[in-house]
Parts: sequence; structure tokens; C-alpha cells
Amino acid sequence: MKTVNHWIGGTSVEGASGNFGPVYNPATGAQDTQVALASVAEVDAAVAAAKEAYRSWGTTSLAKRTAILFRYRELLEARKDDIAALITAEHGKVHSDALGEVARGLEIVELACAISHKLKGELSTQVSGGVDVASIRQPLGVVAGITPFNFPAMVPLWMFPVAIACGNTFVLKPSEKDPSASVLLAELAAEAGVPEGVLNVVHGDKIAVDRLLEHPDVAAVSFVGSTPIAKYIQAKAVEHGKRVQALGGAKNHMLVLPDADLDVAADNAINAAYGSAGERCMAVSVVVAVGSIGDELVKRIADRATRLKIGPGTDPTSEMGPLITREHRDKVASYVHGAAAQGAEVVVDGTGHTVEGHENGFFIGVSLLDKVPTTADAYQDEIFGPVLCVVRAETYEEAIELINSSRWGNGTAIFTRDGGAARRFQLEVEAGMVGVNVPIPVPVGYHSFGGWKDSLFGDHHIYGNDGVHFYTRGKVVTTRWPDPSDGGINLGFPRNH
Ligand code: NAD
Repeated sequence: MKTVNHWIGGTSVEGASGNFGPVYNPATGAQDTQVALASVAEVDAAVAAAKEAYRSWGTTSLAKRTAILFRYRELLEARKDDIAALITAEHGKVHSDALGEVARGLEIVELACAISHKLKGELSTQVSGGVDVASIRQPLGVVAGITPFNFPAMVPLWMFPVAIACGNTFVLKPSEKDPSASVLLAELAAEAGVPEGVLNVVHGDKIAVDRLLEHPDVAAVSFVGSTPIAKYIQAKAVEHGKRVQALGGAKNHMLVLPDADLDVAADNAINAAYGSAGERCMAVSVVVAVGSIGDELVKRIADRATRLKIGPGTDPTSEMGPLITREHRDKVASYVHGAAAQGAEVVVDGTGHTVEGHENGFFIGVSLLDKVPTTADAYQDEIFGPVLCVVRAETYEEAIELINSSRWGNGTAIFTRDGGAARRFQLEVEAGMVGVNVPIPVPVGYHSFGGWKDSLFGDHHIYGNDGVHFYTRGKVVTTRWPDPSDGGINLGFPRNH
């Protein structure tokens, strides 16, 4: 049995709490790994290491920090296959998809390599006689990140490269379901020259999370995960006086107008709904077919859905791997089983799908539900599995009204050849990330990622300029070097002249 340890103060630290969580290989269903679950004392040790490291890291020159990040980028690039293999072993996604996740995480390291440009600040000279004003941004101190299972490398990389580039030190609490990739990320950071204590990884459950939220030495918390936990994290972090950004769940709609190329739309719906077995916060889980195209679009999606190759992520011919746990697989299946009774048409039912030689794996086939009533559980809830709902709308207006009445607002997309309609959609839709003929509009590293409504709590999106802003605080310095004749008493409020 492999045990995944914490990474504190630049070294691997065995768990001391006596508590361990199971880590499964979702393709086989076997548990051959366990992860140490931190106690309050172990979280405190990680925060103490980060606090100590901050004393020198916070003032380390931009040149040195940048040089380390460049080395880190090269190491991640060189070891991307190893990181992807760990992801596939514990998460289940296919190797090519895991490599894609690493590549998108690398974008944020590249952003961090350019941090000197982002931290330049602003200077106004001669705002008043002999007075200059500079706005600068400084690090916060120790910051924490709490991440979900579905992107065990990319989501941590959304956070800590920017945080440490800005001069903070970091404590990461990754998902306990697939913790190994985050440890390799930390080991490679150390190899690149990140000093001990600057990046720490503590594994754990609610005990570890709650301690990070309460700890007086943690200045800010970044969270990515489900909506109920995101809401909880924001409330508790604010209660303890911390800056917080908490990204939550999603139900992403893809609107298809009657003038769209239906083959392109069907291909994109398949890729965005079933890629990574639907376990993406930017997955398309609802297609809104406008006008008379519904039947034809559903037919084309169904034709493609039944041809997908499902199998272990280590098999290069697999297009979709298993789900994260047996319980999650069964929950996903329950939405498909309940859909017909709630008024949906089950066009493709993948719930009975098994993979030969992997009968104990957490596999499920893909499902397609048509004419799903908005009252059905399959429409209302985030299923987080390979289940695509299709709803019909007579008009564009009806479709946008439906999308905007969703409680989530993470990503959305429109498929059309009509530029005017696409422009209107960009402006009218209530979501944080919009794709025009792009089904999964995850912003590049130098823009910021984040949703609206129940998909984000807090006002900062993650990475890009928002990330830099979140991990720094502003200071404005007003300077005068008076000549000796400038003295004199004046109790009035300072006026510029
Ligand atoms: P989750 O909310 O169950 O867990 C996320 C993190 O919170 C984990 O580290 C977990 O240990 C911790 N946690 C879980 N329960 C907790 C509790 N009661 N108290 C304190 N901490 C707790 O999410 P998950 O199942 O790992 O990930 C899937 C979810 O994440 C989906 O809802 C998905 O949409 C969402 N997600 C959102 C984004 C985004 O950018 N908006 C990105 C990826 C995933």
C-alpha cells in the first residue's frame, strides 16, 4: 500500500494523526494507495513553515523569484508525462486529457514568469508642488488553497504559481481523492529552487480545511469545488477576517441556433459533455436547441455518443475513462434512471455499460436525455458525469431566458453563423465565461477564470490580473523631499497645488 505524505518545509512529512483516507484506482476499483489526513497540529506546522519562509521570500528579488519560476516551468514541461500518469491513476481521466490539464496549468506558471510586468505599480510625478505618488502592490503573507478532485494538477497550478510569484508563501490542501499529483508539483518546485516552506502541501478533510479557515496566520483562501462547500468556505473565511475567492459548481448551457452547422455543434456537444466523463466544471451539461433543429441535432449527437470508446485512461485508444468513485458513479446513474419518470426522453442510456477486464472499475457509459423538463432533477442539479440534457426552445429569447434563470453562471456557449446573434448573446447572457462556437471557453492564463451567481463567491476571479490582485494588497505612497524653505505650520487638510 502506497502512502501519500504531506510536504511541509521542503520535505516529505509522514502523517502523525493516525487517520488515512483511501485513494482508489478508478479504472480497477482497487485501493492501493492511502493518504495521510492532517490533524490541526499538522496544519499548524505547515502554516508555521510558510510563515517562517515568508520572512525572506516576501523580500526576495523579482529577478530571483522569476528565475526560479522559469526553471519550474521547464521541469513541469519535462515531467508532464509523469504528472499526467499520476492523474490518470487516481482520477481516471485518459492520459491525453491529463496532459491537456497539465498544459493548461503550465500557462499559469508562464504568467507567473512574467510577474515583474504585473507588479510594476504606477507612479504620478508632481501631483502637487514637489510631490510624487506611487501605487504599489505587496504580498499578503501566508495564503492557502483548497482544491477539488477533478483537476488535481491544473487547479493547484491556477493558484500557487501566482501567489508565490507575488511574494506570498502557500499552503495547499488538495483533494484527498487524488492527492499524488500535488506532491509531485511541490517536489518539482523544490527542485526548481523554491525555498523550503514557500510551498507546502497538507492533505486532509474537513478538519484540515477548517483549521486553515480559522488560522490567524492565514491571510487569504482560494477555493475551487462544489457550490455548497464554496458557500461555506466564503462565509467561514470572512468570519475569520480573511480575503477569499471560492469558485463553485456549474450547469453550463450550450445554445444552438437554427443556422448553426449541426455537425460542428454535435461534435462540440459530445466533446464538451463527455470529455473527462463530464467531471469538468466547464462541461456542457445542457444543450438548448432553438427552433426546428432539435430532432436532427439530437439524432446527430446520439449517433456519435454510441460510438465513443470507454476504457481505462492508460489505454491510448480510450476516449473516456471511469468516474472518480463507485458512489459517484451510482449517483450519476440514478439521475438517468429517474429522468423518464420526471418527463424526459432517455435517448441513450449508458448506465449499464461495463468494460471488459475492468468489471470492478467505476465505469459508466454516456447518456443523452432529450426534452428534459426544467423541473427534472437531471436539469436542476449538477450531475458531474457523462449525462447530457437537451432542452428545446422556440426562440432565442426563450433560450436566453432559460439560461439566465439558472442559479449557476460559470460557462456558456452559443453555436451560430450569425455574428449579430452571437454579439447579442455575449452581452445578454449571465455567465462569467462565454464561448462563441467554442464549447469550453476556459480563459488563457493571462485572462482570468471565474463564473457568476452560484459559481463564484467573492469578487475575484482566479489567475490572470484578478489572481495577481487577489494575492497582493495595494499601498499608495505620497512623497515630498522638501527644500529647507518649505516648512511652516498648517492644520488644514492637505490640498494639492
Ligand atoms: P468538493 O466541494 O467536494 O471538494 C473540494 C475541496 O473541499 C476538497 O479539497 C475537499 O476536501 C474539501 N471539502 C469537501 N467537503 C468539505 C467540507 N464539508 N468542509 C470543508 N472542506 C470540504 O468538490 P469536488 O467533488 O472535489 O469537486 C467537484 C466540484 O468542484 C464540482 O461541483 C465542480 O463543478 C467544482 N469545480 C468548480 C470549478 C470552478 O472553477 N468553478 C473547477 C473545478 C471543479
